[in-house]
Amino acid sequence: MPLRLGAFVHRRIIAPGALASATLLLAIPASAASYSPGAPGIGDPYYPAYGNGGYDVSHYDLRLKYQPATDELEGTATLLARTTQDLSRFNLDFVLDVGEVRVNGAEAAFRASGEHELEITPRTPLPKGTAVTVVVRYRAVPSTKQAYGFTGWHRTPDGGIGANEPEAAWWWFPSNDHPLDKATYDVSVAVPDGTQAISNGTLQSTVSRLGWTRYNWRSNKPQATYLATLAVGKFDITTGRTDSGVPVINAYSKDLGDNYGAARASVERTGEIADWLSGYFGKYPYNALGGYVPNTTTGYALETQTRPFYSPRQFANGSNVSVVVHELAHQWYGDLVSVAGWKDIWINEGFARYAQWLWSEHEGEGTAQELADHVYASHPADDAFWTVKPGDPGPDNQFHLAVYDRGALALQALRNEVGDDAFFALLKGWPRKYAYGNASVAAFRAYAEEVSGRPLAAFFDTWLFQPSKPGVSAARGASISTRDPGTKGAPGRPESWKKIAATNGVHEHPER
Ligand SMILES: [Zn+2]
Repeated sequence: MPLRLGAFVHRRIIAPGALASATLLLAIPASAASYSPGAPGIGDPYYPAYGNGGYDVSHYDLRLKYQPATDELEGTATLLARTTQDLSRFNLDFVLDVGEVRVNGAEAAFRASGEHELEITPRTPLPKGTAVTVVVRYRAVPSTKQAYGFTGWHRTPDGGIGANEPEAAWWWFPSNDHPLDKATYDVSVAVPDGTQAISNGTLQSTVSRLGWTRYNWRSNKPQATYLATLAVGKFDITTGRTDSGVPVINAYSKDLGDNYGAARASVERTGEIADWLSGYFGKYPYNALGGYVPNTTTGYALETQTRPFYSPRQFANGSNVSVVVHELAHQWYGDLVSVAGWKDIWINEGFARYAQWLWSEHEGEGTAQELADHVYASHPADDAFWTVKPGDPGPDNQFHLAVYDRGALALQALRNEVGDDAFFALLKGWPRKYAYGNASVAAFRAYAEEVSGRPLAAFFDTWLFQPSKPGVSAARGASISTRDPGTKGAPGRPESWKKIAATNGVHEHPER
């Protein structure tokens, strides 16, 4: 259990009934008994302690200072929120050392609890439906802070990175850490001159003073907390513009060694890929775009909003455009429309993998049909692969290969079931229908039924929700080849297969 300053600060507990001030009593006309603590979790069955109840954040203003030499991070986070119940106290998710909390300007009592909870008791209880400003001052060495035995903060030789799924924010800003509570962000980070701070969105300005340079980033569209990222280090930065006019900022650690060329040859194609994807998914939904490759030893990549994170290892075998396609596909499937609960991860990963299949088709290295046939043929019925249900995989299998490959197979089967017109209308219509919000697998099924005009309950059950391989008749019905590998006419392995499989580690969690 990490030591947190909050545990040693005197905690003021104010019982609403004990308030003596007449003005305060006037401010709280409802029965004081209705004031209760906000829940310590937002209600996600996969991660009961993630997020919090009782309020909704609309904006995070993060003013930070980071020293790469010591991994010291200090900051002031200002959260604009609105209460959704009468609150006697509420939680944020955070593991760094807190020095002071203010709620609507007044000092508030606080303490650390659980693995990553910061419990805040405002001086005055907060009525439902009111605007609340929360200021949290903090300072810590994030790499020394653990929750559940791991840290989501990655130190590099020249800095540090906050990029992880589903939890990353705990190590750099206090939040309501669940995709259901999206918000806009201003992220301002001071770093020593010669070092850069990369985050999401547009770079509003940089200011140098007394040996420190401050980078001011802005995300002006709703963003889930796990999609907020911070990377500090020494980067080469490139800028450009897509055909559709979106400004692109990419960053590459100067320290990528032999992977430098391949990383750059891949991520520099970001604008081209985003324009290509918009042909399938609709107009690119943000005013900023890019990617960054820090000198980290991690292996995964992450769809951090507008500016995905890529580990250098993704480029160890040469350029890897497929991983760029995957992370950029998430800008629509995952970022623009986010999961309603973590059980809905297929909406993210099945579609991002399917985009890689479409890219393979585009490159002439195997069609989506051939890739789907290969997935079906290459896993025999007794393979544990089929026991994972992409539609509700469980927290331990949230990033299992089946969510990706069986998930994309389900999409090819759906395409064959409803026809290309309905399928591509769905692919483009979904991001628009739930833009900047959240949606579930069940909502996708309902939308697919609406667009195609067909009942699809049995179809979705077979392909996404049964812990077994879809049978021969289901496969034939969805035009998936049922020939056994090695037999005449059996599907071969498409040329792109190995390249796509090499991106399977994109969401591995080596630190867990
Ligand atoms: Zn992904």
